[in-house]
Amino acid sequence: MSQEIRVRFAPSPTGLLHLGGARTALYNYLFAKKSNGKFLLRIEDTDRTRYVEGSVENLVDSLNELGIEYDEGPFREGESKPYFQSERLDIYHKHVQELIANDKAYYCFCSKEELDQMREKQQQNNETTKYNGKCKNLSEEEVKNRLGQESGGNGYVVRMKMPSDKIFYFEDLVRGSVQIASDQIEDQVILKADGFPTYHLAAVIDDHYMKISHVLRGEEWLYSTPKHIFLYESLGWTPPIWVHLPLLLNTDRSKLSKRHGDFSVSNYLQMGYLKEAIINFVALLGWHSADDRELYTLDELISEFSLERLTKSGAIFDITKLDWMNGHYIRNLPLEYIAELCKPYFTKESMDTSDETKYLKVINRARDQITKLPEIIEHARMFYEEMPISEENMEIVRQEGSQLVLKWFVEALNEVDRANTKEKVSDLVNTCSKELNIKGKNLFFPLRIALYGDCHGPDIPMLVDIFGIRECVEKINKFLV
Ligand code: GLU
Repeated sequence: MSQEIRVRFAPSPTGLLHLGGARTALYNYLFAKKSNGKFLLRIEDTDRTRYVEGSVENLVDSLNELGIEYDEGPFREGESKPYFQSERLDIYHKHVQELIANDKAYYCFCSKEELDQMREKQQQNNETTKYNGKCKNLSEEEVKNRLGQESGGNGYVVRMKMPSDKIFYFEDLVRGSVQIASDQIEDQVILKADGFPTYHLAAVIDDHYMKISHVLRGEEWLYSTPKHIFLYESLGWTPPIWVHLPLLLNTDRSKLSKRHGDFSVSNYLQMGYLKEAIINFVALLGWHSADDRELYTLDELISEFSLERLTKSGAIFDITKLDWMNGHYIRNLPLEYIAELCKPYFTKESMDTSDETKYLKVINRARDQITKLPEIIEHARMFYEEMPISEENMEIVRQEGSQLVLKWFVEALNEVDRANTKEKVSDLVNTCSKELNIKGKNLFFPLRIALYGDCHGPDIPMLVDIFGIRECVEKINKFLV
C-alpha cells in the first residue's frame, strides 16, 4: 500500500498570516485534498522572543475565513490542541540527548560576546560567518565540569555536529537535484539556552512523528534542508519529499517583504477583497495549469492542482491581477452572497437596507462598477440619500417642458401597479414622449435629475424599478413647482 499523503502548514506565531503564508497553506491543503490525504496545522512557537500575542488567533481565523480547513491542529471544536511545539518540549529534549550520545551534537558554552567577536573577525577577513567549532571537541570531563557550573542549565546551547566534508544531495520536486556542501553550513544550534529547541530540530522531530510525507514550504528554507537531512540521518529516520515553493516577488522582481506593506490576509479582507479572489490569486503565485487558465474556484483548484506544475522562478505579486479577479467575483458570484458581504458598509453609512428587494436591485447594478467591496457605497448612495442638485440641473428641472414631463409622468406612475414595472415604465416613457412631443434629453434629463440627482445615469425604467413606484412619486413631487 502506498504511503498516506500527510502535509502540514507550520507557521511561527510572529505576526499576522500574510499572503505568502496563505499560499503555502493553500498548496498544502490542495495537495492533501487532491490526494485524499491529511492537512495538519502546527504552530511553531519555540522562539519565545518573536512570539506575538494574538497571532495564533489571527492565523487560525484567517485560514477559516479563506475556507482552508485543516484536518488536525489547534482550536478545532472537541479536540485538544495537539500541535503547539511549546507543549512538546520533552520529546525534543529526549532526542537532543540521543544526538549528543551518538556524537551528532555537542554542548556549546560560548558566550554571546565570544560569538560576536568571532563573527566580527570573520567579517574582517571576508570569511563566511559561522560558528568556528570551538566547543566541538571538548572532553567529556570538561563538558561535565562546565555543566556542573551552570546554574539552571542556562549557560549553554546544543549544536548539531555537521560533518566538515560531506556533500548533501537531495531531490526537490520543484528545484530538481540539489547539492549543497556541508562546509557552507554551520553547526546549527538545535537547543537554545532557554531550553527551547530551534525551528530546525523541532520541525524535523515533528515531521517525523506526525508522519509528514511531503514538506511544502517557502524557498527560503532550501538551504536549511541539509541541516534537516543531517538530523534525519542522525536519528535514523527517513526524510520526507521536499517541495520548495518559489519566492514571491514585486513587479520589479525585488523580494516581496513586510517592508513593502501590510500583506496580511486580514488586511486584504478588510480592504474588500473576497476570499474567492484571494484564494484564486495566491493559487497562481507559483502554480499554473496546462492551459494557463486564470479563474478557479477552490473546488476547481482541488481537482486541477498538481505538484508537477509548480514553477521554479519567482512568482510576481501583481495587485492589478488581484483587482481584476476581485471585480470578476463581485460581478459573478450569487447576488445574495455579494449583497450580504456588502451589508456592513451600508450599516456603517446608516443606509437602511431593510427593503430587501430594493437592496438587491441596488447591489445588482452597483456591483458591475466596482473592484473592491467598500466602493459599492459610492454607487449606491443615490438610491438611499437625497443627492445635492447642482444649480444648473435645477434650472433644467424648472423649465416649462421639464415640468410638463414630470407632471405627466407622476400621474402616469400613480396608475402603474408594482408588477412588471420595468416594461410598463419603458412603455410609459415612449407614450409620454409621443403625447407631449418631447424627446431625448428634454425628456430624460428632468426625470433623471428628479429621481437620481443627475442628468446622467441609469435609464428611467431601471431607476423606477430600483426605487419602486411610491418612492419615485415622492421624489418627482418634490420637483414640481
Ligand atoms: N515555522 C517555519 C516558518 O514559519 C516553517 C517552515 C517549514 O514549513 O518548515 O516559516
